Amino acid sequence: MTTSTSKPLGEVLENWDASRHGRELHQLITALYPICRSITGDGFRQSLRLLQQQVPIELHEVPTGTQVLDWTIPKEWNIRDAWIKDAQGRKVVDFAKSNLHVLNYSVPVRRRMRLAELKEHLFSLPETPDWIPYRTSYYRETWGFCLTQRQLEALPDGDYEVCIDSTLEPGHLTYGEFRIQGATDDEVFISCHSCHPSLCNDNLSGMTIAARLAALLSTVPVRHSYRFVWVPGTIGAITWLARNEAATERIRHGLVLSCLGDRGPFTYKRTRRGNAEIDRVAAQALLSAAPGHSIVDFVPYGYDERQYCSPGFNLPVGVLMRTPNGRYPEYHTSADDLNLVDATALGESLGMLLRTVFILETNWVYINQCPKGEPQLGRRGLYRTLGGIKDSTQRELAILWVLNLSDGTHSLLDIAERSKLDFCVVEEAAATLQAHELLRPKE
Ligand code: ZN
Repeated sequence: MTTSTSKPLGEVLENWDASRHGRELHQLITALYPICRSITGDGFRQSLRLLQQQVPIELHEVPTGTQVLDWTIPKEWNIRDAWIKDAQGRKVVDFAKSNLHVLNYSVPVRRRMRLAELKEHLFSLPETPDWIPYRTSYYRETWGFCLTQRQLEALPDGDYEVCIDSTLEPGHLTYGEFRIQGATDDEVFISCHSCHPSLCNDNLSGMTIAARLAALLSTVPVRHSYRFVWVPGTIGAITWLARNEAATERIRHGLVLSCLGDRGPFTYKRTRRGNAEIDRVAAQALLSAAPGHSIVDFVPYGYDERQYCSPGFNLPVGVLMRTPNGRYPEYHTSADDLNLVDATALGESLGMLLRTVFILETNWVYINQCPKGEPQLGRRGLYRTLGGIKDSTQRELAILWVLNLSDGTHSLLDIAERSKLDFCVVEEAAATLQAHELLRPKE
């Protein structure tokens, strides 16, 4: 047990280039953007196959009708085309231009109708007349179109022909999983919903950051094992839990990832427990690296933390976001597009996750090997005779704190919290002291 196993991760973090990693993420989002995803179907599979270029994600297929906890796997939905034509045969709404135009999970339809009847199946946003809303109807069989308010207002009275070339048939629900075996079986669980069609911040930012994080962690030695899941929202998380109840016992820390690409400050939503180690670690990671961040308590509303933190599981799973769901005007509209997500913000979000992982990986308890009086640090070159450099003062303070509190009962996280020093400075002090044999990890 030495800290040296995690050094490469520390080096990745030290040399972090948010804009370079962010540009890669933005490219990946651009490739995934046009795909029409849903809670089931080929769009979901195609998206995971694209992410397989980052890490070998395993696709799991669960048949329609399978009972999962209190739910049942629905029929599989696939769509090829959809449009509304006016009396002159001109396409006035076209799925080929935006997959948001179709009410997600619409049953197939092909018929003519009057405008009044058609309007019962149309959804728009009067307040933001240029944006297409994102709407779904997973559990009630119906059909519909979403369009801008301007498109709606421009529809003259008369006959229309509508076509939704979709299928809703027995098939499968797909989810993706990738696991990294660490030195121990203690698991860090990372989940992101992957069921939204052309929406960037809500969906694609989390999906791509999870894939890149998995790829980066695959290249460094890790103490924990890491399990990543890409699931359709709600039903996918419930399906994973139903099929992996025994595996949940190994989950020590977890995070749901969503809305990580907008330009707003970070938000961390605590676990249902409220005092899990991940809650303290996330707070510590954000403390000095994320100005203006906020930390909010668990509420049973939001993303799949609702399932992971349901009372029968109560897993230590928090949520890392920038601006939370529903708190930005573009949320669940066509304006959650490639311009809303910013390359640097994406790169910073991935960096913040690495920082969180670094703290989880290096949060050891140490024992001072020279606990009677302070060891003579000057003789060992650990205490500068010349003061005045702010950074070195922090380092020296950290050395004193680590020596004092390393009595076998305080972790580095405890020391960082109590000293109010940055975790990375505390960790570096511990590594230095260990190199000088003044500290050893508690067995
Ligand atoms: Zn959403």
